Amino acid sequence: MRPGRRPYWDDQYPHELFGYAPYDGILVSRGIVGDHQFKGKYSSGQAMRFKRVGARKFLRLNGKFGSKDLFGDSGAFSYVAHEVPPYTSEDMVEFYGDGQFTHGCSVDHVIFDFERSFTGMQGGSDDAKRRFEITLENAKSFLRASRELGPSFTPLGVVQGWSPGSMGEAAAQLEKMGYTYLALGGMVPLNATSVHACLQAVRARISTRTQLHLLGFAKAEQIHEFAKYGIASFDTTSPLVRAFKDARANYYVTKEAGGIDYYAAIRVPQALESTRLLRGVKEGRIKQEILTALEANALRALREFDRGRETTERTVEAVLAYSKVFLSADSGKTETENERALLELRNRLEKVLDEKPWKECVCSVCKAISIEVLIFRGNNRNRRRGFHNLAVFHQHVKSILREKP
Ligand SMILES: [Zn+2]
Repeated sequence: MRPGRRPYWDDQYPHELFGYAPYDGILVSRGIVGDHQFKGKYSSGQAMRFKRVGARKFLRLNGKFGSKDLFGDSGAFSYVAHEVPPYTSEDMVEFYGDGQFTHGCSVDHVIFDFERSFTGMQGGSDDAKRRFEITLENAKSFLRASRELGPSFTPLGVVQGWSPGSMGEAAAQLEKMGYTYLALGGMVPLNATSVHACLQAVRARISTRTQLHLLGFAKAEQIHEFAKYGIASFDTTSPLVRAFKDARANYYVTKEAGGIDYYAAIRVPQALESTRLLRGVKEGRIKQEILTALEANALRALREFDRGRETTERTVEAVLAYSKVFLSADSGKTETENERALLELRNRLEKVLDEKPWKECVCSVCKAISIEVLIFRGNNRNRRRGFHNLAVFHQHVKSILREKP
């Protein structure tokens, strides 16, 4: 499992916070780092430091973490609209060499169209076929150029296609070139049925010894469904992103029966940092003193509840009283819609407070900050919830790989 593509967190990486890495490695997309062609997500200072010290040192994946894998790819989604990829194979080899990457992907070009029912090389627009050829040509030159990085570097040939059949064909051609590790790209928008079809088609055309990586695997929580195709690795940002971007599934727990279950975080936004609330204050619809009092009371109730000094019922009411102001500040919603939203919120709150999942978790985030990990408020808390998710998810992935025949 390799969570990648994330902006630089200059205070602490998950492996530093936990003292162990809740992943087997990290994947860095060149598009995220940015350079003279792309802005990327790093500041120019960070991008320069990245270039100067190399990816491993930059990510502080050195010292006792030095044996962790460092994967790289060209970040094809960042140049998806370009006629041709902006990097040559030689550019990427230099990037991987400078950064001390252990694994690197060839320069691919995302294919937009996808049709599950096409067999073999059937179908495919002119643009899809052009991108297919570019991806294979690049893979050929990348394999050649990457030899200079020596045996400690593993090149991955990227598969792009417009159908399961064309992906199978690409995989067969890459294997013939000499690749022993393939990366499947462009599957982000595909549903589970299509992902199955692609993996089946690819596996049918290559040796069982050839390893597979799933790039930006959006179905990471369902990895157990795909294990049978012999997935050597995948990268995902889901555990981190869901902590704050999902409407409901913010906090991961493992189900007793296997698999991942979720709780919604408890939203207590900072009153004076919410533009929605501030607008209400400015327009005189909300009194600021009342707002801050409700906010403080919601937080107090949650913390007291955690210490066993407040009832579930009163805690729910305290949080809901604040949420109500927040909901009614959104003038675009009708009263009935708000009522419904409040009822849903009440149910979710009662569930999470009754079950107290943070008390069961042994990860050092939950141990250290207890109920705060569930409170949706400010970047720092949300990020630590993401770290917790990573730890839970990594355990889950390891148990699946252990079960694998
Ligand atoms: Zn935890």
